[in-house]
Amino acid sequence: MRAVAVLPSRCEVRLTTEKEPELRTASDVKLRMLEVGICGTDKEIAACQYGTPPQGHGHLVIGHESLGEVVEVGKGVKGLRKGDLVVPMVRRPCPHEHCLACRTERQDYCYTGDFVERGIKQAHGFMTEYVVDDQRYMVPVPRELREVAVLVEPLTIAEKALSQLAVVQQRLPWACPIERGTERHTCHRAVVLGAGPVGLLGAMALRNAGFDTTVYSRTKLPNDRADLVEAIGGRYVSSEEHSVEDLAGRLVGPIDLVYEAVGASQVAFDVLRVLGTNGIFIFTGVPARKGPISIDADHLMRNIVLKNQIVVGSVNAGREDFEHAIQDLAMFMERWPEAVRSMITGRYPMKQVEGLLKGRVDGIKNVLAFG
Ligand code: BGC
Repeated sequence: MRAVAVLPSRCEVRLTTEKEPELRTASDVKLRMLEVGICGTDKEIAACQYGTPPQGHGHLVIGHESLGEVVEVGKGVKGLRKGDLVVPMVRRPCPHEHCLACRTERQDYCYTGDFVERGIKQAHGFMTEYVVDDQRYMVPVPRELREVAVLVEPLTIAEKALSQLAVVQQRLPWACPIERGTERHTCHRAVVLGAGPVGLLGAMALRNAGFDTTVYSRTKLPNDRADLVEAIGGRYVSSEEHSVEDLAGRLVGPIDLVYEAVGASQVAFDVLRVLGTNGIFIFTGVPARKGPISIDADHLMRNIVLKNQIVVGSVNAGREDFEHAIQDLAMFMERWPEAVRSMITGRYPMKQVEGLLKGRVDGIKNVLAFG
């Protein structure tokens, strides 16, 4: 079967031929891949800045944002049948007995770092025709979501962030009331950094959870992504036109939450500087290693202490985040079907993958579609 692989030794993207996988255990499920999204992580792997092939292999089959259709199930599989749609999870647990996270099926919090990630770290991914894996890593998706379900995995990033936010903000012993006569929600003023797919899906999740949501991104108005943000009832502010002081002053007011989805440290730390009292800042981006940046660390530290701020990092996602993403995506489709559809800006055959990975094709979320 055909696959898209990266050869780190030569820093090359190639179409390869792989052996079609077969069921190995009674709980295995075989999927025919329908769509695989292309994300920043894939582009970094293609640029040889990230990613590790499986042990003993010179190449890594990439792809981790996906949608597949069940074609075969092992004898012990329950609740999944041929023809069902499934989004496979990305991370697999480490082997260590003492890793409480992996032993509780929360490998997204793995302590040892010896997890593997399909399509990213030491395991082949989903940009191929067939995939086999254990049922426990497969999350069923309703047929109605077929056209947008490839967005589930990138949405899990926001879902995990929101669940961490909910836990952290339980520290505030009041219910964060909505102010009468205004659209603003006290304790619910969110700023999303970045208008890429992770940022836009994050903005949808925040709007859906009742947040006053502002997306702060570079491109000046007017632009398509700003239109999308408006369509979901959010506000778009260009960082070329407004400083972070403006953002936290007359534009938004005290910022209760920053959802970072930009992967660029300078702008992230600039915005951390203006986070509000009792605010929480959630990092989700993995910046490429550049030179050191300059930050006013005393100012940040004073604020973090004197304003009870919390800075959280969030990577990967657990099964419940995938389930929440599927529920939320269904709600987004009810509320803003056109905005959700417009996130997927192109569907391409496998042979066009190189241009997509090397950033020669514009768009919000580009997807490989297997016919
Ligand atoms: C993926 C995560 C993964 C992370 C780091 C992201 O693009 O969505 O599943 O944990 O990269 O490798």
